[in-house]
Amino acid sequence: MTKLLEGLNPAQREAVEHVDGPLLILAGPGSGKTRVVTHRIAHLLSLGVPAWQILALTFTNKAAAEMRLRVERLAPGEKVWVSTFHRFGAKMLRKYAERVGLDPNYTIYDAGDARQTLKRVIESLQIPVMGYTPDRIAAAISKAKNRLIGPEEFKPRPGNPLSEIVAAVYPAYQQRLIASSAVDFDDLLLHIARLLHDDADLRANLDERFRYVMVDEYQDTNRAQYVLLRALSVDHPNLAATGDPDQSIYGWRGADLNNILEFENDYPSVKVVRLEQNYRSTPAILSVADTLIAQNKKRKAKSLFTENPEGPPVRLVTYADGDDEARGVATAIRDAVRSGRRRWSDFAVFYRVNALSRAIERVFRQQQIPFQMVRGQEFYQRREIKDVLAYCQLMNNPKDDLAFERTVNSPARGIGAKTIQRLGDYAYRHGISLLESARDAAQIDGVTKRTATLVAKFVTLMDTLDAYVGGPAEEAVSAVLEHSGYRKHLQGSDSEEDLNRLANIEELLTDARQFDEAMEEEEGAEANLEAYLERTWLVNETDGWDDDNDKVTLMTLHAAKGLEFPVVFLLAVEDGILPHERSANDPTQLEEERRLAFVGITRAEQELQLSHALRRDYRGQRRIAIPSSFLMELPTDTMDLAQLAATDDLGLAPDDLIGDWGDAPDEEVYRHEPIAKAPEPVTVEAPAIKTAATLLSAGGMGAMRVSPDAFKIGMEVEHPELGVGTVLTLSGSGKGRRAAVIFPDHGEKRFVLAFSPLRPL
Ligand code: ATP
Ligand code: MG
Repeated sequence: MTKLLEGLNPAQREAVEHVDGPLLILAGPGSGKTRVVTHRIAHLLSLGVPAWQILALTFTNKAAAEMRLRVERLAPGEKVWVSTFHRFGAKMLRKYAERVGLDPNYTIYDAGDARQTLKRVIESLQIPVMGYTPDRIAAAISKAKNRLIGPEEFKPRPGNPLSEIVAAVYPAYQQRLIASSAVDFDDLLLHIARLLHDDADLRANLDERFRYVMVDEYQDTNRAQYVLLRALSVDHPNLAATGDPDQSIYGWRGADLNNILEFENDYPSVKVVRLEQNYRSTPAILSVADTLIAQNKKRKAKSLFTENPEGPPVRLVTYADGDDEARGVATAIRDAVRSGRRRWSDFAVFYRVNALSRAIERVFRQQQIPFQMVRGQEFYQRREIKDVLAYCQLMNNPKDDLAFERTVNSPARGIGAKTIQRLGDYAYRHGISLLESARDAAQIDGVTKRTATLVAKFVTLMDTLDAYVGGPAEEAVSAVLEHSGYRKHLQGSDSEEDLNRLANIEELLTDARQFDEAMEEEEGAEANLEAYLERTWLVNETDGWDDDNDKVTLMTLHAAKGLEFPVVFLLAVEDGILPHERSANDPTQLEEERRLAFVGITRAEQELQLSHALRRDYRGQRRIAIPSSFLMELPTDTMDLAQLAATDDLGLAPDDLIGDWGDAPDEEVYRHEPIAKAPEPVTVEAPAIKTAATLLSAGGMGAMRVSPDAFKIGMEVEHPELGVGTVLTLSGSGKGRRAAVIFPDHGEKRFVLAFSPLRPL
């Protein structure tokens, strides 16, 4: 047996040795799916398949880099194209940009830029948006794009006002993007998928070129990704997909579980390999994961076993509040490291949303626990960084109107919104970009001579900067800082904030230099501004995360996918957080939340702790926290239930009883939480301690006054604080039954009925 196949079990080997024809590797977490992909690439290379015929696609830059590294190790010297879907789309689009009306130096707009563009379009169309925010409209357009519905195919649905707005806005938005030679993230896939669909020759060429295509985490593909993969696997249907339907967590971004569930229909000759041995986790951890995910209805059961030692029971800990939770986790980690049992990097702390990391960050700092927080995009999102990069964008793509707007008066040059408006009107009439219209400023109606001179100076600046476009990123960024006056402007200020900004733009210079250096080391890679910009546009959350550092990792559950850690802490397993409030009225979303919890749990190798608190400071308010319904689904009899703080007196103020865990301000949920009035809990020791177990068994039903089933749609109900209202919608059942009620003076409010003081009238 070759060395490559050693260390693989028979099922894994079968998958690795599979050469031609479609292959589906369907398996649970920790069973070696990712390992199989890398070994299969190395195996193909060992058979003499040229590296350029192999394409491996993943979802994050980190996963791609990791896979590249492992292939390097197994097959030194071979350069296989391992990429994220979006980077692959971006590269292909540079090559075929003109075919879809773009320039090859097109700009990629992030969500913020796309929203800004959309806002401009809505303003210029002057259509009534009936209270729909640009975000809602953007989400609807994104959804259409992910389903490969182009602007001209989008049909409004009768009686659906949002779809009517989208039908009007989407074509204009797309036109504006093309005119600026820009794309949004969804376009990276949409343009390529449509090109492949429309151009049979191109499709055949690329199918021939990418003879062997591999995809990890196939369960998270959306329609556009599906079509792209399908198009590359017609004449050479050597598509190998690995995935786990139970780990599909991107439904909200358009991922379609059917892609994996129907793989066998799409490729009837597919070879399906199931991997059943888990190498990652202890039986204790797996059983918790298994019991939880078994609650999902839309799934196929899988068997998973492990030969790993049993390990300690999974802990479920009740804390008094979020700070107590943070301190408890910090202490546990510090004790383990001090005793020499563990290193800092053995630990990971997961949470549902970034906002939950604050308490733990603070306590880690206080206790000097080294940690790295995985939060990639933030640096490039800072205002000063976006400003400087906007200059680079405009240099690289002079049609980029958004970049023009961002830079023309930053730092202040006396060019106001009115002037930009006039330039914009002129540009629109002549079908040219803002920068081009700026060249004609002197002859534009309403632009004074003085203003025209200021605009001309800006044009001269951009002409000066033009010399740096083809060169290294560092030189371009440095030229921007010098010539634009941006650095000088900050240096001249004595505000603390500006000094911070100054430090950040110097940091950007370092970032650009490091990029250039990395490119120089890489064979055949070109260090230039455009490549650098592309990197800044396509950053992922996990990009900055370094697993070689001996630090505790803090990240969201979404970022944790595919990773593994010896010890995992999962915080705030609470109703409205995990499951997220968004899933309250939607069984499909609730199942996705459960999968998200499953993903978190299955990252743990040896130890796992789930925790919830009785009170939590969240979104600026102190709230009573209800244990997550997911906790009630766990095999608590085999778990270690503990409470790390005495919490007899909850000290509830009436205000505490109203909880708003929603994302948007209009998604208020009023909870009248019964913990304080629940039957006297079984206590371990004085003072009275409410353990997870007692909270779970109390189940929150104690204070229920009216059966949730007594409510009907249209019924009038009374609320002690909000007055009389009418039930609009009802969903869920039993303790999970929820209602939306409209009150004349307070608008629409949502309730968990079992916890609400609502009374039918
Ligand atoms: P996930 O669904 O979470 O992405 P996965 O199926 O991709 O998991 P891998 O990350 O490939 O699983 O493997 C999990 C762990 O098990 C890794 O540490 C891997 O090195 C190890 N492993 C996989 N197969 C074997 C094997 N045959 N022998 C020893 N260790 C293995
Ligand atoms: Mg994996």
